[in-house]
Amino acid sequence: MTVQPRTRARELDAADPLAPIRDLFALPEGVIYLDGNSLGALPRTVAERTRAVVEEQWGEGLIRSWNTHDWIDLPRRVGDRIAPLVGAPPGSVIVADSTSINLFKVLSIAVRLRPGRKVILTEEGNFPTDIYIAGGLAELLGNGVEVRAVPAMSLGQAVTEDVAVVLLTEVNYRTGYRHNMNLLTGIAHAAGALIVWDLAHSAGAVPVDLSGTDADFAVGCGYKFLNGGPGAPAFAYVAPRFHHGLRQPLSGWLGHEKPFAFDADYRPAPGIDALRVGSPPILSMSALDAALDVFDGVDMAAVKSKSDELWDLFVSQVDARARELTPITPSDPRLRGSQASFRHPEAYAVMQALIARGVIGDFREPDILRFGLTPLYLRYIDVWKAAKIIGQVIETRAWDRPEFKQRAKVV
Ligand SMILES: *Cc1c(COP(=O)(O)O)cnc(C)c1O
Repeated sequence: MTVQPRTRARELDAADPLAPIRDLFALPEGVIYLDGNSLGALPRTVAERTRAVVEEQWGEGLIRSWNTHDWIDLPRRVGDRIAPLVGAPPGSVIVADSTSINLFKVLSIAVRLRPGRKVILTEEGNFPTDIYIAGGLAELLGNGVEVRAVPAMSLGQAVTEDVAVVLLTEVNYRTGYRHNMNLLTGIAHAAGALIVWDLAHSAGAVPVDLSGTDADFAVGCGYKFLNGGPGAPAFAYVAPRFHHGLRQPLSGWLGHEKPFAFDADYRPAPGIDALRVGSPPILSMSALDAALDVFDGVDMAAVKSKSDELWDLFVSQVDARARELTPITPSDPRLRGSQASFRHPEAYAVMQALIARGVIGDFREPDILRFGLTPLYLRYIDVWKAAKIIGQVIETRAWDRPEFKQRAKVV
């Protein structure tokens, strides 16, 4: 006799070593949250930590807290907590600014390290901010520097002698396709180019080994799988071999060797601190710091393994109940991050109907339903239920109502 999927989900939950971590999150009743790849859920520690930072550190400590609570080095401390999640050594990750701004900084460094080469190579369909920021930098540099976007399939052959930097996002935001970081980093290096990895959909989602793959630079997002909260600060990684003499063009005072000497001349701080620009946002950075507690003692291999089992259960159930949805995320677990995406001609309306029923995922142009799988707070029974509701919405055409077709400002 075959086990019913619902029973199987219950069994998997009962045996799940990550199950206790769910209690570390404050999740609303009646919601199945499949959008932690866009905005991670709220870890319980964040509210208490934020209250303490506001009332005690700021309210009572006032300006003294820059020293007494070591606010000044928070970007390094939080960076050192993200570092093990992405396979980076201590002192190589800084938390600062947004992913977009960090991209500008590391791309500028990389292009300058390859003088004479004119091309920033990326892939078609990369996340728009990556392409826009690269384009903005190319325009600013002038002198023939250009962005070249090629299809993912031809990246291997596209790293020609004129390529200074390869800029790639490891996990594609639409499809969930995951590049082979080791292979592509090797190809870039063999051609004399440097590589920048955007880990927005990787950090906290899949095991990443920046050191082991010999990556040069990376950036990543604080508010997705790292659960740092809306607009949380992002991070940047620079391989230690580039730390000596490191400098970047957003030469703000807090990236200075001695900010409080108030010198007339800019001299970059040694190492990763040179990527700092202005005053760190202590409230949101403290929230991110507290949010990272949920990763304490968590093995990213276990997270990936649960993600894969969630994926199998979810996608097989959606497949069985909603044939109109076309899966587009690779079924080979090595080739995907932690999401399941499907095409449907009315994807926007379908997603709104799901959200109205408490199943929160998101829509991506032109016709993609995207569901993030976050093993730290999702149960197998949740994805089973979500698939059942998706089946109902498709079968009854519950999405076919004018109110579900009205586009909001943020999708
Ligand atoms: C979410 C995301 C970003 C976000 O950039 P911000 O500057 O933090 O808004 C950047 N790159 C990719 C690939 C993303 O998915």
